[in-house]
Amino acid sequence: MTSQDPHSPSADPAGLQDVRERLARAAQDCGRDPRSLTLVCVSKTFPAEAIEPAIIAGERVFGENRVQEAMRKWPDLRARHSDVELHLIGPLQTNKVREAVQFFDVIETLDRPRLAEALAAEMARTGKRPRLYVEVNTGAEPQKAGVLPADADAFIRDCRERLGLTIEGLMCIPPEEGQRSPHFALLAQIAKRNDVPLLSMGMSADFELAVQLGATHVRVGSAIFGKRPPLVSG
Ligand SMILES: *Cc1c(COP(=O)(O)O)cnc(C)c1O
Repeated sequence: MTSQDPHSPSADPAGLQDVRERLARAAQDCGRDPRSLTLVCVSKTFPAEAIEPAIIAGERVFGENRVQEAMRKWPDLRARHSDVELHLIGPLQTNKVREAVQFFDVIETLDRPRLAEALAAEMARTGKRPRLYVEVNTGAEPQKAGVLPADADAFIRDCRERLGLTIEGLMCIPPEEGQRSPHFALLAQIAKRNDVPLLSMGMSADFELAVQLGATHVRVGSAIFGKRPPLVSG
């Protein structure tokens, strides 16, 4: 292991290896096949030079939370690594739907009828169909995106029946304070009763717990790439 300034945005292969081992152990501990888990490497705010070593090390699924930032960073990386899969994990405004549909393989943050309508229209227009996850605001936090748990069943049904969308997964970001497990368990319950196969839950601090409670996708940033550089606008 090389010593590294924790504030430098360079990729940390030691961080990636450690996350892979933690993930494999978490799967083993609850009798799940590690191959049923997908590590989504959250590369938001990190420059291409920091991301590419993770691709070279074999990672293929990456998460970005802003459309513009992803469209700046990823075209060159994708030209060199065509099999990378990109997930949008941040809020999507309806005026960015065109870019998001064109650019992302998975949109994890579908959370309101207006957005579902805009996505359905754009997907019909272009024939490009990113896979969709519905974000659920499991903590019912007023400032946070996501459908309320009580509205989730109706929203998923509306997406499917009225708009013809395939909902592949659910995603949540639990409140920063308090126990995570009730939120992960709630998301798993909503998925089960709606026949939604994938669960995107768990981040650097709590992905083992999320795996225990059924996560199929964990979104891990700082444990792989180190401390995030300050956010730049755009
Ligand atoms: C930043 C972010 C993550 C990763 O967080 P870490 O704590 O750095 O692992 C996961 N999910 C979402 C939606 C994020 O915005």
